[in-house]
Amino acid sequence: MKLPIYMDYQATTPMDPRVLEAMMPYYSDKFGNAASKNHSFGWEAEDAVKVARKIMAEAIGAKDKEIVFTSGATESNNITLKGIAEMYASKGDHIITLKTEHPAILDTAARLERQGKKVTYLPVQKDGLIDLDVLRKAITDRTILISIMAANNEIGVIQPMEEIGAIAREQGILFHTDGTQALGKIPLDVNQMNIDLMSVSAHKIYGPKGVGALYVRRKNPRVRCASLIDGGGHERGMRSGTLNVPGIVGFARAVELCLEERESESARLTEMRDRLKSKILTDLDYVYLNGHDQKRLPGNLNLSFAYVEGESLLMEMNDVALSSGSACTSATLEASHVLAALGVDDELAHSSIRFGLGRFTTDEEVDYVGAKMVKAVKRLREMSPLYEMAKEGIDLKSVEWTEH
Ligand SMILES: *Cc1c(COP(=O)(O)O)cnc(C)c1O
Repeated sequence: MKLPIYMDYQATTPMDPRVLEAMMPYYSDKFGNAASKNHSFGWEAEDAVKVARKIMAEAIGAKDKEIVFTSGATESNNITLKGIAEMYASKGDHIITLKTEHPAILDTAARLERQGKKVTYLPVQKDGLIDLDVLRKAITDRTILISIMAANNEIGVIQPMEEIGAIAREQGILFHTDGTQALGKIPLDVNQMNIDLMSVSAHKIYGPKGVGALYVRRKNPRVRCASLIDGGGHERGMRSGTLNVPGIVGFARAVELCLEERESESARLTEMRDRLKSKILTDLDYVYLNGHDQKRLPGNLNLSFAYVEGESLLMEMNDVALSSGSACTSATLEASHVLAALGVDDELAHSSIRFGLGRFTTDEEVDYVGAKMVKAVKRLREMSPLYEMAKEGIDLKSVEWTEH
């Protein structure tokens, strides 16, 4: 087993060697510009993009022409929120999204608010799932877009896409989903789920960084979306700029591999994830699972370890790449907005760890991380008076603390 161990697959993934192999020719001999119509170099690149577009479309039940290649999910989310807000301004000015969305949605929505648009950030239930009644009640006659992520990047929780899509369709409101964490891991069908726009990214599924796509429905309804980048009119005018041909080829290959291996990989990851969870929950007390137990990505485990600090824990685990429930913003540690939305208090949020398992995670690694985690938590708790008090049955919330 090689150290350090990578267990942060929701942050990014290593590229699969098979993806790199598919990309290589487009970095050397096949370097043409897919927009060059006058020679074989251009045609070759254009053909490669055409094949990739078809693979992408089929993976989500879409048509080739409905795929817009971008630089990643951040860009796709920006195009959606800003582009729809602009195009549908005469219809309304209200967008509904979720408190647990990725910053690429939340920060974009915040900018639109500063520009005078209205945004509703729906709360989630304790398990991270949307409450469909709350969604229904948030809809007004000014609502133009519902943007709800398919799977969460921190807690892995999978939202009920089909139900949300049905509500949006019934109300005649466009439905966008940030499908970045879901693509290739759970079934996604834009027609069955009534999805009108969907953002995806290559580097979360063993493809290259800096490539993504946006699905934009062309029929029933035909979605109109303004562009953020103007220029040569590439990608049906929605995203100008010379196409990243090697990246697009790699993205498509990555999608293909995920779909081919989805069921066996899902079972393998679920088994490993659950083994890691039961090892930790069996050997330690005061550990809490964040996010729904079943409705979550197979490769995601998010746990709060009371009476230890996440940062100290990560330091103990210095040969394992993990994420904590704290976001480093300048000098201060801020608790994760996702855990806050679940009602997890700041202290517990700071003692949370995300374990992200993926394609190259081995049984041996899982067992190593489980055993090491248990040891680290026990060690840190030995030094924690709070843990001692909790064990003695003292209700820490009722203790009045005085400074000495
Ligand atoms: C990683 C991620 C993004 C950002 O994708 P990039 O391609 O890195 O811009 C957006 N949304 C979710 C849910 C993600 O996990």
